[in-house]
Amino acid sequence: MRFRAVTGELLPSIVLPLDRCVLRCDEYLRLLSGGTYGYTRLEAGGQRKFHGGVDLYAEPETTCYALYKGHVEWVNDFGKKGWGKAVLTRVDFPKKTFWALYAHLSKVLVKKNTKLGPRTVVGLTGITGNGDSRYPHLHFETWKSLSAGKSGTKEKYRTDPLEVLGSLPYSPYMENAIQRAKARERIA
Ligand SMILES: [Zn+2]
Repeated sequence: MRFRAVTGELLPSIVLPLDRCVLRCDEYLRLLSGGTYGYTRLEAGGQRKFHGGVDLYAEPETTCYALYKGHVEWVNDFGKKGWGKAVLTRVDFPKKTFWALYAHLSKVLVKKNTKLGPRTVVGLTGITGNGDSRYPHLHFETWKSLSAGKSGTKEKYRTDPLEVLGSLPYSPYMENAIQRAKARERIA
């Protein structure tokens, strides 16, 4: 088994959730507020708002993969609010278990308890829930505990997904993808 060092911890090699993981940014290739994990969003009143994951730019219908061995914990459709169509996968590292959430999907291709291996297809990206059609993305979270699913728990049971994914770029793939998103808007 290959290992790689991320933030000083040796973790097994994983498959990234998308073939190309690019942090969501604007058309000037600036990282959008809230593209990363933590208190990265500003509310109207100037208060910091928590963002529970990373936003990985993805044109709708981009294939999403399981990171590693595990199974599907749940599949859910949160409707027009929040995560929209979402899948929570359980990831079984040799000495550590965590959960990975995929949200705003257009299509889910697994069921509760489906066994997963690295690169098992879990679904296709979309703009369901409060997904943003101007900057379509996969909202991806990592959880230490299923308790992260309770509303308002914020960072208590979550981790920064980049601790597992490693550092990610936000260019130059972005520029083409944004042009294509604009072309889609013109057609719609
Ligand atoms: Zn997000």
